Amino acid sequence: MARRVIIACDICETEPATSQQFGFGEAKFEVDVCLEHGSALQDALQPYIDKGRVPEEPRVPGVRSKATGTKSDSMTKEIKEWAKAKNIKHNDNPSSDINQYNESH
Ligand SMILES: [Zn+2]
Repeated sequence: MARRVIIACDICETEPATSQQFGFGEAKFEVDVCLEHGSALQDALQPYIDKGRVPEEPRVPGVRSKATGTKSDSMTKEIKEWAKAKNIKHNDNPSSDINQYNESH
């Protein structure tokens, strides 16, 4: 049995919408947004993405991190796909920009 799930925008209830994730402080959020509100979210975050930096990772004594920059790979991938779907162009290093965004929120 085929089932189709249609997502509505959490802001205006327009269909279809896509789920977007973002972080702020220690919290991660997911919101379903239509094209218009997806653009509004992008516009609101872009200045901070542009100016964001990668914070130093907290070090836990006795625990060695296996690799750096892998913590948020799945979220990075989602944002990359989102940016690609929306044809958002980044400067020279898109993954760097996205990592900065992820790490700084
Ligand atoms: Zn909307």
